Amino acid sequence: MTQMFIGGQWSDPASGETIPAICPSTGEEIDRIGAGNATDIDRAVAAARAAFEGDWGRTTATERGRLLTKLGLKVLEHADELAELEARDTGKPISQARADIGALARYCEYYGGAADKLHGETLPYLNGYSASVVNEPYGVTGHIIPWNYPAQMFGRSLAPSLAVGNSTVLKPAEDACLSIRRLFTLAHDVGFPAGALNLVTGLGQSAGAALAAHPGVDFVSFTGSPEAGSLVQKAAAEHYAPCILELGGKSPQIVFEDAEIDRTIPFLVNAIVQNGGQTCSAGSRVLVQESVYEEVVSKLQQRFSNLKVGSHEADLDCGPLISARQRDRVSGFIERAKSNGVPVLAEGALDASAKSNGFYVAPILFGPVPRDSEIAREEVFGPVLVILPFTDEADAIALANDTEYGLIAAIWTSDGARQRRMPAKLRCGQVFINCYGAGGGVELPFGGIGKSGHGREKGFVAMAEFCRGKTVVQQYDDA
Ligand code: NAD
Repeated sequence: MTQMFIGGQWSDPASGETIPAICPSTGEEIDRIGAGNATDIDRAVAAARAAFEGDWGRTTATERGRLLTKLGLKVLEHADELAELEARDTGKPISQARADIGALARYCEYYGGAADKLHGETLPYLNGYSASVVNEPYGVTGHIIPWNYPAQMFGRSLAPSLAVGNSTVLKPAEDACLSIRRLFTLAHDVGFPAGALNLVTGLGQSAGAALAAHPGVDFVSFTGSPEAGSLVQKAAAEHYAPCILELGGKSPQIVFEDAEIDRTIPFLVNAIVQNGGQTCSAGSRVLVQESVYEEVVSKLQQRFSNLKVGSHEADLDCGPLISARQRDRVSGFIERAKSNGVPVLAEGALDASAKSNGFYVAPILFGPVPRDSEIAREEVFGPVLVILPFTDEADAIALANDTEYGLIAAIWTSDGARQRRMPAKLRCGQVFINCYGAGGGVELPFGGIGKSGHGREKGFVAMAEFCRGKTVVQQYDDA
């Protein structure tokens, strides 16, 4: 099925053209998706507007919450099927795909429960006046999402917007969107009215660009690369639509000499090998205090050299990367670092299930990495971990903040005062202390600074992001 979902119906793309869906584990074509363009986006935005001004716009918060909760339950009913589709489409190990589908269900349940709990405010004002602020949906929200966590991103981006009553148009990534097509059928089955959710598949430069630029879109939510995010924001600015941008990171894990090192090591490894390092919040830089540098390096080497990469079905530490393009991009970072003399400390290995036409890259550990090197500063989006030594807390903070990104950070220390002191000094949107990971934290507000983007998703705050406040002032007879 190559169709798109617009106004409650499946329909062919206006161009009649399709794009292959490739399984990253084998390099084989497993399906085709519609190549949507500006005409399809026009239709989808019109359908969303009609829904907002019609049935969907009249639903109560309780009804919207109930629909989202039903969708969450439906996702759980279809969890095995969705996980299998997600694993085949993205190459991620099947147990990771299962966890992702669990997270998607949580997004639907969380915003299902929260939909009727977003309150406005009443303000103390002049005598004889009442003043309040009400939260109103924007109208039509456009959502452009990436290929690394398609199903989770559906929940993270769409659920809070639907909860507050917007109509939505989704343009998923051309490299992975099969689970999303299935989710639109499930959303229709649980009773979302026609036009509340619309799906236009296709390329970023055609369908994505048309969605961001469409004057009928009142708000844009984008997750992906800084380059595309910047284009999206410019396009949205042309019609004065606000944006949330979530653009990735180069997140530091800061290990002090007083950390419980043995407990820390598995977190350090997992934070970079999860989803093959194709995670915006990947912990891709390990900063280690000089006094424990050798110990941390030797323990990381041991783990890294035992890491295995294979097909999604083999369910190992890592699957393949999403595409030949991403494999080549990641391999380019690795080759440039090697040819610049950055020491390789350990490498994982390809398993027999890693077929030669798949897009595999073995995890690799570099260190000590020069602070100004490309591999220390740029987001690789692959299973590449770099280690940098630091001297003391001030040096650690300077190093942690020394990239253009600022998404998340972790501090590993048993010093209570340091645990309290440091978060305020780190330039990022989330700080973890003696733990790591944003992926499952549906409840935790999430977003970046600088090249990592702006705006906050997840948690209750995401619903407020998808609303605009309206101040209402009434004068009455106070006699
Ligand atoms: P990308 O930014 O090109 O794609 C992300 C989404 O944006 C896709 O749906 C794509 O179709 C769309 N898009 C692309 N160009 C667009 C445009 N001009 N207007 C509107 N939409 C557009 O990302 P990519 O090329 O697939 O990956 C490149 C790099 O981006 C990765 O190596 C990684 O560093 C980063 N990335 C980050 C995330 C994240 O979660 N933050 C996700 C994917 C990629």
